Amino acid sequence: MKTYLIVKSYCLEVEDNYDPSYIREHLNFDNLKIDETHTAKWNELRVLLLDSRYHNCMKCSFCNSWISDINKDYPITGISKGVEIDGLYYCAQCLDEKKK
Ligand SMILES: [Zn+2]
Repeated sequence: MKTYLIVKSYCLEVEDNYDPSYIREHLNFDNLKIDETHTAKWNELRVLLLDSRYHNCMKCSFCNSWISDINKDYPITGISKGVEIDGLYYCAQCLDEKKK
């Protein structure tokens, strides 16, 4: 037997005075049926404030999606991987567009 960790992430944009404890109250913690014989069991809730002052996260300079720079320490899992080139941040999709 082996075990896969399945990470499905959401970004929630809220007002500055939003109480993050509301998030837990409105989430579904049910197990996830994958197929007739396999069910993924609920494991953990992680709520992380995306703030580039404290974490390796920033917004893509082109599409404004959250990314984590794979060339810097402690990349965040659960948001797209990105890179900085000449002072601009690229998500994978925008980097592909740049290369065309
Ligand atoms: Zn982008």
